[in-house]
Amino acid sequence: MIPHFKIAAAGLVLSAVLIGGGCSKAQESSAPSTTAPAANADVTRFKIGSLEAIALRDGGLTVPNDNKVLGVGRTPEDVAAVLTGAGLPGDQISLSIQPLLIRDGDRLVLIDTGAGAAFGPVGGKLPASLAAAGIAPDEITDILISHSHGDHVGGLVNASGALAFPRATIRMAAAEWTFMQANAELKSIVDVITPRVETFAPGAEVAPGITAIAIEGHTPGHSGYEIVSGTERLLYAGDAMHHSVVSVQHPEWKILFDDNAPVATASREALDARAADGHTRLYFVHFPYPGLGHITRTGDVYRWVPEIPAS
Ligand SMILES: [Zn+2]
Repeated sequence: MIPHFKIAAAGLVLSAVLIGGGCSKAQESSAPSTTAPAANADVTRFKIGSLEAIALRDGGLTVPNDNKVLGVGRTPEDVAAVLTGAGLPGDQISLSIQPLLIRDGDRLVLIDTGAGAAFGPVGGKLPASLAAAGIAPDEITDILISHSHGDHVGGLVNASGALAFPRATIRMAAAEWTFMQANAELKSIVDVITPRVETFAPGAEVAPGITAIAIEGHTPGHSGYEIVSGTERLLYAGDAMHHSVVSVQHPEWKILFDDNAPVATASREALDARAADGHTRLYFVHFPYPGLGHITRTGDVYRWVPEIPAS
């Protein structure tokens, strides 16, 4: 059965991208032209065709394996078995936070902005990581928001509460902007960014070579972004998945943060299947840093295969 996805006005949905884009001969035959990781541990550079991409560490958090975040409704033993099966500690769950920067000539596109001050010491390293990459905040021309949770929009403002990236146009799905404006906890950020926000419909080209993809279930306007250059492409999948082992191997397990759990489950299951079948190159903001890799399938089991070893 075809999982549920919103049919966007432009007719472009996750399924079409992963099937249509992932199966091209050109893509299968061209290995990604990855460069060696940068010396700085919070800055990892790689290529998407002729574009430079930079994974920028913002932070990370570790929470107990108590079924309150991942595997909601399962037992801690269920979740621990999956974690330990992958060589991870069974009593805790670790998630990273790493926005992605795309450089296309003079255009610098930042996808999500990390937590800023929203989560205390858990996040907020993005400005330092950008500086380590040699990029000033006012060089950012475009910001693409996957969704309006604090670990993605907290970094839109600086410690003084002002725009952290004063020249950037901030783009997000129209449904997400409506959702964000209704969130009283985000009012101070909404008030500051409103003059800079432009909204789009799913399927829109939001920057040259970058297309917004509706990946439903996490929030009302949750968007992935497909970045294409030449024969290479990357899908920034936002919070379609959170954990590189639990979310990939058990997409049917509920995650606390999903707004619509059944739809989010369907999105994860579709992403697993179509990414594995299509050899889709993926970027996950919460997978172990730098979050770049593929999903493979062996029998019924899906696994995350990082392109650059986690650090
Ligand atoms: Zn998140």
